[in-house]
Amino acid sequence: MGLKIWLDGKLVDEADAKISVFDHGLLYGDGVFEGIRVYNGRIFKLQAHIKRLYESAKVIRLVIPMSKQKLTSAVEKTVEANDVVDGYIRLAVTRGIGTLGLNPFVCENGKIFIIADNIQLYPEELYEKGMKVISATTLRNHPLTLPPQVKSMNYLNNILAKIEALDNNVPEAIMYNHEGYVAEATGDNVFIVKNSCIFTPPVEAGTLDGITRAAVIKLAKEEKLEVVEKNLTRFDLYVCDEFFLTGTAAEVIGIIEIDGRVIGDGKPGPITKVLRNNFFKYAHRKEK
Ligand code: PMP
Repeated sequence: MGLKIWLDGKLVDEADAKISVFDHGLLYGDGVFEGIRVYNGRIFKLQAHIKRLYESAKVIRLVIPMSKQKLTSAVEKTVEANDVVDGYIRLAVTRGIGTLGLNPFVCENGKIFIIADNIQLYPEELYEKGMKVISATTLRNHPLTLPPQVKSMNYLNNILAKIEALDNNVPEAIMYNHEGYVAEATGDNVFIVKNSCIFTPPVEAGTLDGITRAAVIKLAKEEKLEVVEKNLTRFDLYVCDEFFLTGTAAEVIGIIEIDGRVIGDGKPGPITKVLRNNFFKYAHRKEK
């Protein structure tokens, strides 16, 4: 049996969840989306994701044809209909059906679809051993192009960096901005630890304002760890004591090598482990 997908205001069978070839989401990557997790049957940080989705839409002048409240309940219904207890949700809004020109204003209505499924996490082994990454030559979008805070359906910038990673037989690449400062990984935010202090690039360096990033900063502060948002260079990554990424899909994952430079003793570091554990507990906690 296939999934139940939310499309056009109702749940339909996966086989019937179809989008027109004239949808500008497909023709131009014109749309916005969110990736959201379900832990123990609870949708993690749904309101933060809804807020980011509406903000992304506002920036690209896309009207989401549904109130935040109704969209929230549509996400909940989709999770229930698919009996998702631990899973992943894809919530997307495309510009809708238009013509072959770029003009977004000829499109009828924004189209909303929601997929809720069981997640394919990175293999457990990768968390234990840690992950290797490379520096991508592809720069993160310049803030004066599409602002990197917008989670748009056009991920080509990040996909080019991901291809560089895969060409080098590693799963992830670190992207830098036009000034040479660290921005983020292709689908995750970057953190390092140096002399017991945690550093992460500010959002203005060209990152998505990650929801996992914010949760991890909060958890680190609860552990009385110092967190500093500051521009980081490739040098900082090469000589750090610990290195980890955060994101909805990856949660907290240790990095053990970048561009052939081994980080620390080549294993995920102690602070990384504490934060990964604390994040797990926080995500799986019973209360809201
Ligand atoms: N940066 C990019 C480019 C991403 O796609 C993601 C994940 N969607 C993140 C960072 C991490 O953000 P979040 O913790 O909200 O998933």
